[in-house]
Amino acid sequence: MAVQSVESSTTSSPTSTSAASKAFGPAVALSCRECGERFDLGPIFACEVCFGPLEVAYELPTGDPEGLRRRIEAGPNSIWRYAPLLPVPADVADLPSLNPGFTKLVKADHLARELGVTGELHIKDDSGNPTHSFKDRVVAIAVQAARTFGFTTLSCSSTGNLAGAVGAAAARAGFRSCVFIPHDLEAGKVVMAAVYGGDLVGIEGTYDDVNRFCSELIGDPAGEGWGFVNVNLRPYYGEGSKTLAYEICEQLGWRLPDQIVIPIASGSQLTKIDKGLKELIALGLVEDKPYKIFGAQAEGCSPVSAAFKAGHDVVRPQKPRTIAKSLAIGNPADGPYVLDIARRTGGAVEDVNDEQIVDAIKLLARTEGIFAETAGGVTVGVTKKLIEDGLLDPSLTTVVLNTGDGLKTLDAVAPTTGPSAIIRPTLDSFREAGLV
Ligand SMILES: *Cc1c(COP(=O)(O)O)cnc(C)c1O
Ligand SMILES: [Zn+2]
Repeated sequence: MAVQSVESSTTSSPTSTSAASKAFGPAVALSCRECGERFDLGPIFACEVCFGPLEVAYELPTGDPEGLRRRIEAGPNSIWRYAPLLPVPADVADLPSLNPGFTKLVKADHLARELGVTGELHIKDDSGNPTHSFKDRVVAIAVQAARTFGFTTLSCSSTGNLAGAVGAAAARAGFRSCVFIPHDLEAGKVVMAAVYGGDLVGIEGTYDDVNRFCSELIGDPAGEGWGFVNVNLRPYYGEGSKTLAYEICEQLGWRLPDQIVIPIASGSQLTKIDKGLKELIALGLVEDKPYKIFGAQAEGCSPVSAAFKAGHDVVRPQKPRTIAKSLAIGNPADGPYVLDIARRTGGAVEDVNDEQIVDAIKLLARTEGIFAETAGGVTVGVTKKLIEDGLLDPSLTTVVLNTGDGLKTLDAVAPTTGPSAIIRPTLDSFREAGLV
């Protein structure tokens, strides 16, 4: 139990000279999202007082926004350019990592025209990450924490993309890995999770079953020395999503977008993007102005969207049935916080059905040359619906996230996509096909 029983005193306040806080850069403590109680930085994820989720608290480098901006701009073309704002050591870029992030922000003028957007529309295309999903960001931060805490095996419960991201990051950073997925995922995700040589375990059940199993494993001697990136390392993992907020603003010329459309699985990404935007405002890196955050779900797994529409504060779990398997979490841990953020910022949470997801994947591919996975179909489809319903203002600057790669979810579009014709290798045969 040595690794997991790190002391979490409620009275001592960590100082910036301790070895631990050097490893965690500007991070100074873990704090409870519910009651505000503070704990030393350790491999813990739930408040000892109220069982609320813990998040990383910082002493951020305020006072010299110009200097900080210059330092960031001179940094590497990866998430590590934001090291001064993350729970990582200052020399993190020299450590073995997949160096994710700094993905393209694509100005989507053709898509804008199709959707009736008269303002700026951008796609933040995170399919460009090393394992082709946004999960490389969160894993990269969790790996640093795992190293500091002395874990030897990296693990996770995954809806697919996380398993691949953990497998690859473990291989690169020299950890053993053993990851857990629902047994019925897309072939592209299963192969991607297995190819890096770690152990991959398919569990007969939904993601929520997989997650419950992992929680049990953490408390068992069998899980000793294991860092589960999205369970006992979750506070650190979550911080990786802040880099999406930083990059979007930097790529817009240090400007906040007016509206962002974000997919929801557990809701971690959405809540941390909001946290990142608030930090940029507090640091004086962007001008303070209102922004709206919109959440996107698949109709077949829409617990947060259902709660939003019903005006509820609590999220009622659902049993997922959707082609958007990367978002198929029926009992999302951060659901209530997502509701808070959507309501506070004047945004909304909406969902689209499987047919609309496929149509949106094809729309984005046809208009911008971006092949999104089903989660990208969800955000683009929801954007279209929000505009039609008058909830998203088409005259403002909007950023829509594509968090994964269509090559991992070929089954979604394969039945309705294919060659225009199969011909003999002759001009006559080509003419007969009616394409000219
Ligand atoms: C995991 C994932 C998300 C969002 O996950 P959260 O649990 O809400 O942070 C979004 N898109 C893709 C493709 C994912 O794999
Ligand atoms: Zn608490």
